[in-house]
Amino acid sequence: MTTDGSLAPADGGTAAGTPVLGLDIGGTKLAVAVVTADGAVHGLRVRPTRREEGPDAVVRRLFAMGHEAVAEAGLGPVGAVGIACGGPLDASSGVLQSPPHLPGWDDVPVGPLAAAEFGVPFALENDATAAAVAEHRYGAGRGLGSLVYLTISTGVGGGVVLDGRLHRGAAGNGGELGHITVRRGGRACSCGRAGCVEAYASGSSIAARAAEALADGSPEAARSPLAALPAVTAADVSAAAAAGDPLAARVWDETVDLLGGAVADLVNVLEPELVVLGGGVTRSGAMLLDPVRALVAREAMPPAARAATVRLAALGDVVCVVGAGAIALDVLPAAPAPARTPARPPHDPAPTEAARV
Ligand SMILES: [Zn+2]
Repeated sequence: MTTDGSLAPADGGTAAGTPVLGLDIGGTKLAVAVVTADGAVHGLRVRPTRREEGPDAVVRRLFAMGHEAVAEAGLGPVGAVGIACGGPLDASSGVLQSPPHLPGWDDVPVGPLAAAEFGVPFALENDATAAAVAEHRYGAGRGLGSLVYLTISTGVGGGVVLDGRLHRGAAGNGGELGHITVRRGGRACSCGRAGCVEAYASGSSIAARAAEALADGSPEAARSPLAALPAVTAADVSAAAAAGDPLAARVWDETVDLLGGAVADLVNVLEPELVVLGGGVTRSGAMLLDPVRALVAREAMPPAARAATVRLAALGDVVCVVGAGAIALDVLPAAPAPARTPARPPHDPAPTEAARV
């Protein structure tokens, strides 16, 4: 983002053409790539986080992956480094504040560490927020003014772009769309409250609810093909529901119903042009998208429902690393004035593409 929070075009007023480094710190995997102003990734590396090794070791490996990506990309030095990570975090100081998916990462100054390691400015943003920027600039929301992005993965996160500007909130952690209450007093959530949409629609919750249903001793549980699996995943539940298993269908229907209710609320409150659903659980495709779309069309206020399209994310598994690059592109130092381009006399033809900066 620019300093005022607006989403500048990727080459607007910056060192156009300078690549940046994107670092995505997930609970299970690290993803690193050099990102160019067109949103393309180069030298992509994805490796397990191994978070149990603690922040020092993980950050060291993350930075080593960064150097590898820069070398493999072969695009020269990077001009900035962007870091996407689950919050809470302080974006301006670059400090991670004990994110729940990284136990023991208490006040880790990952931004300043990255700036020192690579010798360039840093940008730090919540991973779902960075993903929202990436989808707005390079993905499903390209060219639109307003977008709500929801990532449905191990947890549920989000980001909001309104009137072309990223909504960051007063303390920089706005857009925690996973913690909308969909069932007051419901299942315990990782945030400490109960009944959040994350506590129902996240991949881990879908798997946990299926495991609980399988353990209830009902005839339905005994007949479910899921009972034969050593461990049930959200993808297993989606596939079994699609194949007609009543137990899996019950878990899946509850998932999409509560998720769809949250999306309808967001559509009513924000009236966006587009709602983008991303994250691992959306690999179930139409099983997730169709019922959420139908619920929004049925339950959201008619003008808002008509204005909003609900779509799957376009950038796939690299969305967070592209988002990390996008926020880094926004902190690139301003391009130096072009020394070799003389002032254009009035009678000169329009400048050529190469002469523009
Ligand atoms: Zn919560």
